[in-house]
Amino acid sequence: MLYPRLSTNEQGHLTISGLDACELAATYGTPLYVLDEDRIREKCRTYVDAMRTYLPEGSYPLYAGKALCFKGIYPVIGSEGLGADVVSAGEVATALAAGFDARHLYYHGSNKTDAEIAYGVEQGVGCFVVDNLNELEVLSREAQAQGVTQQVLLRVTVGLDPHTLAAINTGRVDSQFGVPIETGQAARFVAQALETPGIEVIGFHSHIGSQIFDATSFCDQVDRLLSFATSVRDELGYVAGTFNLGGGFAVPYVEGDDSVDIAANIKVISEHLQVGCAKAGYPLPRVLLEPGRSIVADAGVTLYSAGGIKEVEGYRNYVMVDGGMTDNPRYALYKSAYTVLNASHATAPADYPCTVAGRCCESGDRIAEDIALAKPTRGDIIAVLTTGAYNFAMSSNYNRVLRPALVMISQGEARLAVRRQTIDDLLALEF
Ligand SMILES: *Cc1c(COP(=O)(O)O)cnc(C)c1O
Repeated sequence: MLYPRLSTNEQGHLTISGLDACELAATYGTPLYVLDEDRIREKCRTYVDAMRTYLPEGSYPLYAGKALCFKGIYPVIGSEGLGADVVSAGEVATALAAGFDARHLYYHGSNKTDAEIAYGVEQGVGCFVVDNLNELEVLSREAQAQGVTQQVLLRVTVGLDPHTLAAINTGRVDSQFGVPIETGQAARFVAQALETPGIEVIGFHSHIGSQIFDATSFCDQVDRLLSFATSVRDELGYVAGTFNLGGGFAVPYVEGDDSVDIAANIKVISEHLQVGCAKAGYPLPRVLLEPGRSIVADAGVTLYSAGGIKEVEGYRNYVMVDGGMTDNPRYALYKSAYTVLNASHATAPADYPCTVAGRCCESGDRIAEDIALAKPTRGDIIAVLTTGAYNFAMSSNYNRVLRPALVMISQGEARLAVRRQTIDDLLALEF
């Protein structure tokens, strides 16, 4: 089974971490995001333990909040010893509102506004991941005005194509993220940053992409980063103490997808780094990783109610659900595949061929195409697995559909972590 804590009960209902999915749907309504906190903690520990075991002292994971950002996630990752990668004032504020330690925030974003930069410095954000020279100038001005020295990582692009989707492949030379090594601009970026008042450069950041299944691309990334760092040392006498390798480990979404042994991959990356550093005579840097998807994706299940079941004769059957691209736009964006079950008849054979469509006025509003479910009737609960990452975070009010509630399960107890949006919420900003 793809999702480790799913089972079924005597009523033939799907259970999530021991709780009946149909009862959760009845209690909290649909659509509903269900998040298994215990599973998230397990994933956090895998990263923390492997990084402590294999990588130099001080190495630790930063949870990439863009995958799933709401207040309730921060106490979980904070108590497991992770830092957090944040990308906007909104994400900074969410982490801080949840009591997260600002010193463990790494502030990303390719185009932070002046106001966001000032806010980040003011809040004592531990490290800025500076994307470009313009940002560096504003950050320097702000740090000096506030009388602090701001630690930064400089984001460089290593020119790698890890063969994932173009939309989630960020490490190529031609990219809006970071400063390219290949063109010589990254070296000039470092030289300038080292001279910039109010700024302390602690190392380099690079992120090569997402949904990556093995360590090969990360090893290539380490090679390129190390060769860059070595030439910077030789030319400028600067030694980077931190390499942030970004996020990107994959998770399986459908039967047949590989799963990733994160600890084994971290070990491979670590050995590669050690060999490389020894060869180059470069002191071992501490390593930061920024997992997003691989921390939260398989902890999430979305529950919908089936509405119309439409059989277009000679073509196909549609099962329509009460959500769709507004709570999960990933099929519409990237044709991402998901595993879908009829949670009301989870032990019945999945023998009804259908396409699961959302409720929006958009023919691309689908959750899964040409799959098979135990034939649903109106009111059955439809579960979509592995929706913990990039679902809630990417939700919208398209068609003025209200955002779902989010429930967290811990130690067999469910609690409401984000309440369902209301019509009043929707209208609250409008005159
Ligand atoms: C998206 C992103 C991540 C997280 O990627 P996942 O694939 O979710 O692990 C980490 N760091 C940066 C800079 C990113 O853009």
